[in-house]
Amino acid sequence: MAPKKSFGQNFLINPRIPEDIADASAYEPFVYAENAIPACALEIGPGVGALTRELSARYPSVTAVEIDDGLIPVLADTLADCDNTRVIHQDFMETDVPSLLAEQFGDSPVHVCGNLPYYITTPILMKLLESYPADGASPIRRITLMVQSEVADRICAKAGSADCGAITAAVALRGTAKKLFTVSAGNFYPVPKVSSAVLTIETYPHGLRDLYPEAPQDEAFAPFFARVTAIIEAAFGQRRKTLTNALGALYPKSAIETALTALDIRTDVRGEKLSALDFCRLTTELERIC
Ligand code: SAM
Repeated sequence: MAPKKSFGQNFLINPRIPEDIADASAYEPFVYAENAIPACALEIGPGVGALTRELSARYPSVTAVEIDDGLIPVLADTLADCDNTRVIHQDFMETDVPSLLAEQFGDSPVHVCGNLPYYITTPILMKLLESYPADGASPIRRITLMVQSEVADRICAKAGSADCGAITAAVALRGTAKKLFTVSAGNFYPVPKVSSAVLTIETYPHGLRDLYPEAPQDEAFAPFFARVTAIIEAAFGQRRKTLTNALGALYPKSAIETALTALDIRTDVRGEKLSALDFCRLTTELERIC
């Protein structure tokens, strides 16, 4: 079976790595206080099933979504003894995530896991995060992914560091990201040109309010979250500009300077110096002034 470049197929050939990824996915807590039901696993891109088998051994129920029709009969064979595991032949980018998770796992919390095709890492991650409102309604409690090492650095970057980008802040609005370990190219077939890393995102159980308790509640939440997101996108869309200039299309310059001063932040700051929490506070301040 020839791996398909168009689907980003680099299969793990060192059996220790799927074990390590599955261990990272299934570490405690595994049962969450609010409903005492153990988490189930959703895998994106099972390939020939190396990671799927390890997830099957650790979770009560596993569903894997695979785009490549050529892999479906292979998976039927490699997962034949995994009674708790189902494979869905589908493009994950076309999947209605809330319907899929409700259908497959009912009310159970969900851990998402995958060795992602590198060409769509960010769209897949953002789809997972954006499929639910950021107010704590998501059943997705943990996301453990193998991604390109530089992408892991960006997602897990500290605010103010050179690696920080819009994706860093977008993820930090929804959970805590941590780079766990790197995986060298020799562990894959075919050997990729880049090195890889496994990261985990622990989503906030109560959504944005765990990061920013002052976030508006009820029907005011969604518009507030949309404004924070628009501010982050504008701030990083023109990262060479100062924040005051980058947000110029959204708010008057004088209001941005007044808001930054009220928050004790220099008015010539650039967006990458602000944390997700700073962006939340800035949004509140700007909405108050304007
Ligand atoms: N999990 C396997 C492993 O670790 O060996 C395979 C990982 S390989 C890097 C990525 C997998 O994602 C491939 O099986 C590929 O066919 C699948 N894939 C690519 N795009 C996809 C999509 N849009 N939806 C679902 N699966 C996809």
